[in-house]
Amino acid sequence: MVISWIALGCIAAEDAGPTSFSRAPKEPAEAVVPTASTQRDGPWGESSFPDRQTVAALMPHLPAQASSVAIKPRRLLVFTPASDRAHAAVGAYGAAALWLMGQSNRIYQTTVVSDPEMLREEALKAFDAVVLNNTFGDGFGTGAEGEKRAAALLEFVRNGKGLAGIHGAVVVPNNDQPPDDPVESQYRLMLGCAFEKPACMAEAPLLKVEDPLNPICAAFHGNGRFALPFKDEIVQLKAPYSRHLLRVLVSAEMDTVPHQGSRADHDYPLVWIKPFDQGRVFFFALGHSPATFNDPVMLRVLQDGIQYVLGDLPANDTPE
Ligand SMILES: [Zn+2]
Repeated sequence: MVISWIALGCIAAEDAGPTSFSRAPKEPAEAVVPTASTQRDGPWGESSFPDRQTVAALMPHLPAQASSVAIKPRRLLVFTPASDRAHAAVGAYGAAALWLMGQSNRIYQTTVVSDPEMLREEALKAFDAVVLNNTFGDGFGTGAEGEKRAAALLEFVRNGKGLAGIHGAVVVPNNDQPPDDPVESQYRLMLGCAFEKPACMAEAPLLKVEDPLNPICAAFHGNGRFALPFKDEIVQLKAPYSRHLLRVLVSAEMDTVPHQGSRADHDYPLVWIKPFDQGRVFFFALGHSPATFNDPVMLRVLQDGIQYVLGDLPANDTPE
């Protein structure tokens, strides 16, 4: 069963330009008005998204401002797991955080969907960037339809748009098989990896900020280390992962926790960016735990990464 639900941000297109860039009042009542297109079978069984309780929980943690103005009105498509799929609850919570950041800081307008039909070529034209928000590769659908959507997303990014992946999105289509066609191979190259296994399910490793001066690392204020204040699943990556393909901004120092994963090179990247033809890719591998979205530092990293893929925050994305 495919459940789709759409929440359109309240920022009018003409309202999101740089001339009107300002701190929006944090009024939950303004943020929860559902549109006519919002279906009533959303993940919480609610007619409004985000619901008031979620807004109230997230509001105190949102970045106070954006790192950059939107150089033009931006539209973000957040593809999130349907309620019967893995990571559905945390996906919905993360989608609410992304929605609220765009709304509060007037940097993008958000459409949240679970229906993979929104990944078809025609539908993607309306957007500047797509977030694969805790989705799995098979969430695209199976067979020829799934492959067509993966191909459409590839072309979307190749042609200059943006892609952000959060946590579960590290699982690529047909993840457990070697890629057997050009679309699958290219899709993995676009993300920079496939998923091998969880290195651990719930640990709080010390984070190494590998590029402290990168604008997407502004949340760390130039520090090279950050003590993760919550436990999360740390993913272990497999081919085509290579630091030659992408620029690692933050990684996990797994020798600081009991469950350390099994990579011989101890390489556990958590945040990376990369150019992909004319487009941009940002990946944020934390986000199994809802606590991720209650952490102001993590939200700032996410917001800056989204602004990078939208084309509003230039960042050095040269691979190593
Ligand atoms: Zn997970």
